Amino acid sequence: MNETKVYDLIIVGGGPAGLTSYLYAQRGLLNTLLVEKNFLGGQVVLTDQIENYPGFPEGISGFELIEKMVKQVEKLGLNLVQKEVVKIEKIENQNLIFKIWFSDGTYTLSYAVILALGASPKRLGIPGEKEFIGKGVSFCATCDGPFFKDEVIAVVGGGDSALKEALTLTKFVKKVFLIHRRDKFRAEPYLQKLVLQNPKIEILWNSTVEAIEGNQKVEKIKVLNKLTGEKIFLEVAGIFIFIGYEPNTFWLKGLVEVDPEGFILTDKAMQTSQQGVFACGDCVSKPFRQIIIACGEGALAALSAKEYIAHVKTS
Ligand code: NAP
Repeated sequence: MNETKVYDLIIVGGGPAGLTSYLYAQRGLLNTLLVEKNFLGGQVVLTDQIENYPGFPEGISGFELIEKMVKQVEKLGLNLVQKEVVKIEKIENQNLIFKIWFSDGTYTLSYAVILALGASPKRLGIPGEKEFIGKGVSFCATCDGPFFKDEVIAVVGGGDSALKEALTLTKFVKKVFLIHRRDKFRAEPYLQKLVLQNPKIEILWNSTVEAIEGNQKVEKIKVLNKLTGEKIFLEVAGIFIFIGYEPNTFWLKGLVEVDPEGFILTDKAMQTSQQGVFACGDCVSKPFRQIIIACGEGALAALSAKEYIAHVKTS
């Protein structure tokens, strides 16, 4: 796909932010290409039930919400390519055009780019974590929960993800040990209330997991109580780790400015430090990450990109 054609806009990433950008770009009649290396929807597809997305009073599954978003963009024509972007650069002597390189060595061109790159689950970095991925270590309750029917499992973390997923897991398992490193959750109060009321969840405060052990699969975890210094082994069939996310921005290598954790810095119009490159969704530096916020930013990024493209094409 070494194209000489120059797209108005290339959107990298097909989660809620990227799909909303695409919707607004289509409605703005921009000639747009959406690039996604995996499946459309990103992390949201792996979410069991979403109860805080407006318009769905009974809640909606992540899969269904994305299905609806995809249907909406398909109505006006979905120009999608399933490839991995590895580099973005400005073309020499043609300062206003971007060259987007794919992992297969091909490239395509555009006047503007929207980065909707999302984020990936962070790891604990403890012995046994890597070895037992898929054998009891999981980062997705919806995907793997059904494999732990009537078992005892552990969940690590104290944010929205850990509490929400611990609640999801109680639908399948006999018991959940919820292990948190502090004595206070950072999750929204409503989730905290549900967790504290759930008889299947036992909370281990001020505790960290030091090792994951087993033979063919996870059998036990070593837990340190940071207040007492006591170390215990818990017999669990699985451990679900939800300790936050890191942005998928490592490959940008100086294209745009990022914060110390690698999240992209933008202004209030979602413009990055690189003129013509916009960013939205979970890869952006900000205090809160929600689907509705990602969608709002996606709309804003596309509207800003449209203004920028009109300016570039007439100058
Ligand atoms: P998060 O809010 O960053 O929380 C991460 C949790 O993991 C914190 O409790 C943190 O402890 C703990 N943690 C971090 N590193 C750790 C380590 N090395 N060892 C042990 N514990 C560690 O991440 P998140 O829950 O994945 O949420 C990410 C974003 O998505 C947030 O903005 C969240 O609001 C949003 N989200 C929203 C929903 C929703 O339903 N509304 C659902 C999922 C996610 P400390 O508290 O001590 O720092």
